[in-house]
Amino acid sequence: MSAGRLDTPWLNDPGPRRLLALLGADGEEARIVGGAIRNTLTGQPVTDIDIATTCPPGETMRRLQAADIKAVDTGMEHGTVTAVIDGHGYEITTLREDVETDGRRAVVRFGRSWQHDAERRDFTINALYAEADGTLVDLVGARADIEARLVRFIGDPEQRIAEDCLRILRFFRFFAWYGRGRPDAEGLKACARLKDGVRGLSAERIWAEMRKLLAAPDPSRALLWMRQAGVLSLVLPESEKWGIDGIHALMAAERALGWQSDAVLRLMTLIPLRTDVVETLCDRWKTGNRVRERLVSVSQTDGVAPDMATDDFERLLYEGDPQAISDRMRLDIAGLGPEDAGARSLVGLLDHAQSWTRPAFPVTGRDLMAQGFDSGPALGTALHALEKRWVESGFALDRDTLLADVPVPE
Ligand code: ATP
Ligand code: MG
Repeated sequence: MSAGRLDTPWLNDPGPRRLLALLGADGEEARIVGGAIRNTLTGQPVTDIDIATTCPPGETMRRLQAADIKAVDTGMEHGTVTAVIDGHGYEITTLREDVETDGRRAVVRFGRSWQHDAERRDFTINALYAEADGTLVDLVGARADIEARLVRFIGDPEQRIAEDCLRILRFFRFFAWYGRGRPDAEGLKACARLKDGVRGLSAERIWAEMRKLLAAPDPSRALLWMRQAGVLSLVLPESEKWGIDGIHALMAAERALGWQSDAVLRLMTLIPLRTDVVETLCDRWKTGNRVRERLVSVSQTDGVAPDMATDDFERLLYEGDPQAISDRMRLDIAGLGPEDAGARSLVGLLDHAQSWTRPAFPVTGRDLMAQGFDSGPALGTALHALEKRWVESGFALDRDTLLADVPVPE
C-alpha cells in the first residue's frame, strides 16, 4: 500500500542511494526503514539510517564487497551487516520473521515478506518503509499514527510484551519522544499488567532505554505515566519515596534558561542524591564510570550560597569538581524556580563557571628542587603550602614571588 512520498534531501546522499541501488538489484529488494523515516516525518533530526532488504546477509556482504564498500559483520547470524560510506555507518538487516520467543529476545529467521518484517517490529511508527525514490510503504497503519503522534504496538500489546519485555520501556521512551496527549490506552494497560517482566531485563538494555527516555525533549509526562503504570518503581525504586516533582521543576528551568537536555542531570532529580544510593543504582544499571563518578561527585558536593563572592566561587571551582558544582547549582536553580532572586544570582555564578578556565599553578616540584629541596614528602608539603597561598591570593601571586618566600631547607 502506498502512503505518499518521503521528500527529503538525505535520500540522495551517496549512502542510501548506493545501498538501495545495490541491494535492490537482480531480483532483490531494499528499503529504508524505521527511525529515519519517523524522524523525517515528525521534523526531528535523522541520526542514523537503517536499511531492510530481502538479500540474505551473505549476499549483502558479497554485494558490498564487490562494490568496494566497507562492510562490517555486526551480527550476521541475526541478519545485520553494517556498511560504511563516507564515514557513516548504515545498518542493513535482512527481512526477518519471528519464529519463537523466550520473553527477552525474539528468535528470528530470515524471510522475504515485507508484511512479516513490519509485523515483528515493535510500534507502528517504527515500521514505515521508503523506497529509493521516496515512495512510502505502509503495512501497519504507520503513517496515520506518526501524524497523530500515537505510539501504538503492532498487533496485540500483551502478546508483543510477552515476546520481549523491553518493549515496556520502549513504549514509554517512544512516547516521550514522539507521543502527544495520553499514551495509547491499550498499550498502557498492557505495560501495567505485564510490568513485572522488566525485572528480567539485562542492566545494559534498561540503562540504554532509560537514558534515551531521559534525553527526550521533555520526558516528564512519560515518567509520570511510567510511575502511574507501576513501571518506574520497578526499574527505579530509588524514585519511589522521592517523587518526580523535581523533573518538572528542572524542565521549567531548562526552558526558561535555554539549558541543553541532559539525561544524567534529569536522572538526578528522580532520586535522593546520597552516595550509597547512587552507587547502588549505577552498579545495578552498569552505567559505566563516567556517569557513576558524576553522580557520586554531586552526592558529595554542597550547594553554593547565592551571595558567594566571585573570587570565593573561583576558589571553590579550583578546589572542587566544577561539573558537580554546576550540576548542584542547576538543581538548586530549578528547585528555587528561575524567577527567584537567589536563583538569579546562582545563574550569574553559573555563567561565570562556564567561562572560567582553571588557572595553572605556576610553581613545579622542579622549581623547588632547584632551590635545594630533595624529592620526597617535604617537597610535596612545601609545594602544597605554596599552592594554598596562591589560591588564597585569588591566583594572583606569580612564580617568582611565590618562590622568593620559600625557606630553603637546611
Ligand atoms: P533510535 O535509533 O532513534 O533510538 P530506532 O527506531 O532506530 O530509534 P532502534 O532501537 O535503533 O530504534 O531500533 C531500530 C528498529 O528496530 C526500530 O525502529 C524497530 O522497528 C526495531 N526494533 C528495535 N528493537 C525492537 C524490539 N525490542 N522489538 C521489536 N522491534 C524492535
Ligand atoms: Mg536506530
